[in-house]
This record gives sequence, C-alpha cells and structure tokens, in this order.
Amino acid sequence: MNYKIEVACNVENELGEGPIWDSATKTICWVDIIKGEIHELNPSTDHHRIINTHEMIGSFAVCTDGNFIAALQHGFAFINRENGEKKFIADPESDLPGNRFNDGKCDPAGRFWAGTMSFNTTDASASLYQLNGKLEVSKQATGITISNGLDWSLDKKTFYYIDTPTFNVDAFDYDNESGEISNRRTIIQIPKADGFPDGMCIDATGMLWIAHWGGWQVTRWDPATSKKIDAIKLPVSQVTSCCFGGENLDSLYVTCAREGLTEAQLDKEPLAGSLFVIHNIETKGITPNLFQPSM
Ligand code: CA
Repeated sequence: MNYKIEVACNVENELGEGPIWDSATKTICWVDIIKGEIHELNPSTDHHRIINTHEMIGSFAVCTDGNFIAALQHGFAFINRENGEKKFIADPESDLPGNRFNDGKCDPAGRFWAGTMSFNTTDASASLYQLNGKLEVSKQATGITISNGLDWSLDKKTFYYIDTPTFNVDAFDYDNESGEISNRRTIIQIPKADGFPDGMCIDATGMLWIAHWGGWQVTRWDPATSKKIDAIKLPVSQVTSCCFGGENLDSLYVTCAREGLTEAQLDKEPLAGSLFVIHNIETKGITPNLFQPSM
C-alpha cells in the first residue's frame, strides 16, 4: 500500500483520544483526556481551537444540534460548543472515585455509549454505560478493567468492544430498536507483541481498525474471519484511537499520547501527542452517528 502519513496537528497531547469527524462543520475533533480538552481542527484552513472542560474527559460525540455530549470524569454532560459551558446530565459512578470515564461513541440509533476504567488500570470495577435520547443511563456490561474501543456493524446487528487488558475484541448481538446487547463472545485476539488494543472504528466494508497502545501501529481486521488484513506503522508508540474523516471520509485520523513516556523515549518519538492523518487508504469510513435527544 502506498500510504501517506502526515501530522495533521502538531500538538503535545498528554493523552490524545477519541477522534470524530464532524461532517456538518468539516472538522476533525478529538480530546486530550488528561488536560480535559476538546480539540477541533479544520484541515482545510488549519484553524485549531480548544475547549477546556476543566475536568478529565474520556470521550464525546456530536449532537444533532451541533453541540457536544461528553463522558467526563464526573459523568455525562452536554458541552456548549461555542462557550464550553457544561450542562450536567448524570454520574452513574459517583460512588466510585477510583474510576473515570473513558472511550465512547454514538450507536446507529443516536444513543451515546461510554465506559469507565479504574485509575489503577487493574481493578475490574469498571462498566459500560448507555445514555439514551431521554437522557436515561443504563449499565450494559460490568467486570471491565479499561473500557475502550467500540463500534457497530454496518447491518446494525453486532456491537464490537474492547476491554484493553484482555487483548480481545469481543462481539455482542445488538438490537438497534431497544439498544440491548447480548451473547458476548471473543472474536479477535490481539498478539501481545503488537501492543494493547485501544480505540477502534469500523470502515465502509465492515472491517475493524484498531489502535495499538505501546504498539506503534494501527491494524485492520476482518471480524468474520478474525484475521488481520493490514497494519500501518506510525512514528509514535502510544497509539490510542482512529477514525475516518475528510469530506469523502477517505483519510484515517489517528491520536496518540505522551503519557507514561520517559524523557529518553520522548526524544526518540518527538511527534508523540500529535494528531496524525493517513492518506491513500483503499477504503473509506462511514458517516459518524450523532447523539439524538428525544425529549
Ligand atoms: Ca482509549
């Protein structure tokens, strides 16, 4: 493959994560979890702006009205895109101060899903939550350690999910009408030498793209055969997440982190924390789902 890897935004994210392409504004948005920032970049103009949420932000999505919904350290909230104002919704883990929210995404019916993780990254005290359009929170999976990559199959019948320390991609049956998931099973096992599976997105052919924490790469997998199809090496080790973007959804945006790297390691990967974009990918992404309030 004739991939072309570029730095889309030369920033020093501590923990860049959760990229989303916003089709309405033609911007790529992502977070720095630790700094509590939502970044927004217009790749045509290079205009880059930052919204500070003043607490850790695990993930976010774009709402049908153009504002953001976020899974913050202290729960779900709407974020006004113009002024950053937070409107608190609910905190399902107010009794678990050792946990924070992590990766999240909207399902095809416009519900927002986000999971948690323990700060110590070893307790299986985390869960996966769903926030529906009526702003009701429900717990969808428990016994999780680091809730991470998630996406839905193109036929809306399967939910793919990563609990990072398991090195597995699991699948659930998914009911788009009710939002229920069931029948959890492991479909892909990531070799430990490839790094921890972190963020994940699906492409327009139904293949899964996975970011590898500590693995210097993103990989592409066929969920039907459990086989790796492709791997793209990056000049940074802590690769956290990826999404398709650009007007034709034909570029892959990739986030990464500086967190946990020593000075010596940072010297070897000076672009750690930047937003990357990979061009000349043979496939495209799908239009990202928006959060749809039904109130
Ligand atoms: Ca992650």
